[in-house]
Amino acid sequence: MKKDNQNISTKKICVYCASSKKINQVYFEATEKLAELFVKENIEVVFGGGAQGLMGRLADVVIKNGGKIKGIMPKFMNEVEWAHKEVIDFEFTDTMHERKAKFLENIDGVIALPGGCGTMEELLETISLKRLGLFTKPIIIMNTNKYYEPLKEMLNKCISENFMHKNHLKMWAFVDQPEEVIDALN
Ligand code: AMP
Repeated sequence: MKKDNQNISTKKICVYCASSKKINQVYFEATEKLAELFVKENIEVVFGGGAQGLMGRLADVVIKNGGKIKGIMPKFMNEVEWAHKEVIDFEFTDTMHERKAKFLENIDGVIALPGGCGTMEELLETISLKRLGLFTKPIIIMNTNKYYEPLKEMLNKCISENFMHKNHLKMWAFVDQPEEVIDALN
């Protein structure tokens, strides 16, 4: 029987985000806020396992607040010591492809925070899988500092030029603030 005071994880969410640490402070602040909300809502986080950039800050804040976080990383990245040292729950894969597939196993949704080519690749692959019906969970794009406006425009252009159907607009949601992420997931 469940005890009332048990910290039961209600959802497991995969977060794609930047490895760069040279970015504006505004991105770190939004990531911290989101990490705090995850812990408050008993949401378990799955992420790339990195110690740098938004990945590192996400893990720092989840751990500091007593939350649950799991890193999934290819072995070669662990060998060059990119793994976050305080994340206990880790899974190491042989390839980047295997890692991306594992990100999407048994999760309740995906959130893309601002990031570079790695983050965008992960996000766009997930959208492609959803288009094919191979992934069915919510995809939230956190548009901190309007970072993803050009991507929003590109996706809209895919639709206006008939490379995608307007029904595909329902596959993702852009939000501006961390506080909107939880509602968007629900
Ligand atoms: P990016 O958005 O280009 O910074 O890429 C984030 C993704 O790139 C992560 O999910 C990883 O696949 C990979 N990556 C790049 N650099 C690192 C790093 N220093 N530590 C861990 N993962 C990294």
